[in-house]
Amino acid sequence: MDKKDYLRRLSSVNDLMQAVYRSRSLGSRSVPRELIAEASRAVLEGVREAILAARDELSLENITTDTEELVSLVEKEVEKRIRPGLRRVVNATGVVIHTNLGRSPLSRPAIEALQATAAHYSNLEFRLEDGTRGSRQHHLRKILCELTGAESALVVNNNAAAVLLALTTHARDREVIVSRGQLIEIGGSFRLPDVMAQSGARLVEVGTTNKTYLEDYRRAIGEETAMILRAHPSNYRILGFTAEVSASDLVSLAHEHGLIFLEDLGSGVYVDLTRHGLSPEPTIADSLKEGADLVCFSGDKLLGGPQSGIVLGKKDLVEAMARHPLARALRVDKLTIAALEATLLLYLDPERALSEIPTLAMLTADAETLRKRARRLAGKLASACPHLAVEVQEDVSRAGGGSLPLEDIPTWVVAVTSQSLKVPALEESLRRADPPVIARIRENRLILDMRTVSDDEVPLVVEAFRAAGGEMETEQGA
Ligand SMILES: *Cc1c(COP(=O)(O)O)cnc(C)c1O
Repeated sequence: MDKKDYLRRLSSVNDLMQAVYRSRSLGSRSVPRELIAEASRAVLEGVREAILAARDELSLENITTDTEELVSLVEKEVEKRIRPGLRRVVNATGVVIHTNLGRSPLSRPAIEALQATAAHYSNLEFRLEDGTRGSRQHHLRKILCELTGAESALVVNNNAAAVLLALTTHARDREVIVSRGQLIEIGGSFRLPDVMAQSGARLVEVGTTNKTYLEDYRRAIGEETAMILRAHPSNYRILGFTAEVSASDLVSLAHEHGLIFLEDLGSGVYVDLTRHGLSPEPTIADSLKEGADLVCFSGDKLLGGPQSGIVLGKKDLVEAMARHPLARALRVDKLTIAALEATLLLYLDPERALSEIPTLAMLTADAETLRKRARRLAGKLASACPHLAVEVQEDVSRAGGGSLPLEDIPTWVVAVTSQSLKVPALEESLRRADPPVIARIRENRLILDMRTVSDDEVPLVVEAFRAAGGEMETEQGA
């Protein structure tokens, strides 16, 4: 039989659409007719191309022209088109604060607060005590000051916004001194010199990449100086022959000259993670104790809340920032406030924070839990997908999000290879699963790190491999 016969056998767009409507699975869900038409056209076009590209009789025979099968392809195509672009994924990379995968998943209480605030009206800017207008910042200021002892607090959209607002409010058209060892770029295009330029402040670099001394700062102070900024080198470390000036020395110097000392902490750690075997990160409390006038950090890094930028510090300085016109443009949404407040409330009991805030729970998960999870996944994979070779191994995870950049956190992984599919193809089909599973490749194995996969997600990973196996069969068949 030649290709023309195959092409002739294909139904028309109209007939295929009629068949889709008869099958009722889509028609009854009020999918727009135009969408079904587009999907039908796309499916028929795909089949037509496959027929024309077929090299021999055997591959022709494997192309379906059966209307019932085409209907199910149309249904899949429609599903793909009506599915939201932003989707939940399973993070099997072991990078806990993975910026590309949405940084911190929220805790149960934060999700509940978010839902209640999203679905209903709230006292966002309304004082329930006397029925007058209130401030949306009030809800967060209260708990932030209580937790940290700071005089005042302000929350904006992210930490980049917090740094920008601090510089614009307090150092516009004036100079800000920064060590050359701290001119950071954080993933997602936060470059300190560029933020500085946007704020209208002038950057004065001091010291060298590896060494900066107190004298370097002192010599740079002049008539125009407004501020000394210390930025936490989040995602890198300068090792070896190095010198940086301590925050307390910089505070003394700044105050001697009537300057503001701003510390950009990056990832605001509230609980001491060294007790859980992680290396020391400067905590919010340390920074305030050393006397920083303003401290800012992200809400969705080690704090484990929603995307936000938190500013703590001296009352007059924070309030001037809140009054600045730019603050309105950087204002946080009520959903952020709800989720952040609920997250912060968990910190009233640090043990509860560690167990209920997913970012902290994942970072401090003990090896035995991870090993058990790895063995459970490996067992299920071996029985569900006989074509896979599965091994449980020790490995290391990363904190991510510019936190603990050098830390190798011991973990357990499942390493997978397939007899019939190359590892990059396996990685890709997991990415195409529903929900997608994101894994990494190392030494020609697919590595699934159990630190960032919850027990509930284990079946989803198995399902993704099963679907990948199915895809493999059709590929081989085609
Ligand atoms: C991550 C980071 C930022 C940017 O914070 P966002 O919340 O992503 O805007 C700024 N400074 C430092 C030191 C950081 O680590």
